[in-house]
Amino acid sequence: MTATPLVVLENVDKHFGELHVLRDINLSVNAGEVVVVIGPSGSGKSTLCRTINRLETIDTGRILLDGQPLPAEGRGLAKLRSDVGMVFQSFNLFAHKTVLQNITLGPIKVLGQSKAEANARGMELLERVRIAEQADKYPAQLSGGQQQRVAIARALAMNPKVILFDEPTSALDPEMVQEVLDVMTDLAREGMTMVVVTHEMGFARRAANRVVFMADGQIIEENTPDEFFTNPSSERARDFLSKIL
Ligand code: ADP
Ligand code: MG
Repeated sequence: MTATPLVVLENVDKHFGELHVLRDINLSVNAGEVVVVIGPSGSGKSTLCRTINRLETIDTGRILLDGQPLPAEGRGLAKLRSDVGMVFQSFNLFAHKTVLQNITLGPIKVLGQSKAEANARGMELLERVRIAEQADKYPAQLSGGQQQRVAIARALAMNPKVILFDEPTSALDPEMVQEVLDVMTDLAREGMTMVVVTHEMGFARRAANRVVFMADGQIIEENTPDEFFTNPSSERARDFLSKIL
């Protein structure tokens, strides 16, 4: 744990036109913490994640990474994108690059690693997500679960300070969900700072330090997983849980 929280959102508001999509969001994430964000569709979970690596701008409020306001442009923004990894529902791998090339591209171009160095580290990461034997294949030759594990390795290759996961298992066939959650659980145990939007309550119970429940652009409740699942304090959360559990 560092003295300063790694990620801080202070009084963050955002609109899409008339739609008030984030309402006075206050959230802080400590180094090594795993925060699971849950809530109904359209509640602003993806937008929240996207503001943290500045894929979306905010109207008012502040977002700090390591105590510093997010850079708006230039090299600072490139650095931010490597410090804040993101894993999406749709794996977003480069179709015409091999698995290993997908992982080494960022480290070579952005971090300035040599090809040999990036390849060595890339293979290590593929071992870590248990997929080293697929290194020379193309994404389309892999299952969805394997592709998502490549996407996780690709995020790790940038040595991020925090990784944001936006419904990483929602697009997967059911039999592939667990292999991805297992990799994420390993990362959590190893101390990676993670913000995870997911409806996988088993993962939340196992891996989360804190659950944040959002509805209508607001954080309605923040709680330990135990408390949240057994004794949610808000009516909205109780109602939501009764529908998904
Ligand atoms: P969630 O991830 O919780 O389902 P989102 O953050 O994706 O919610 O979306 C919150 C609201 O903002 C939704 O009503 C969605 O339709 C709207 N929205 C998301 N992205 C955009 C955009 N780029 N332009 C306009 N509206 C958007
Ligand atoms: Mg979403």
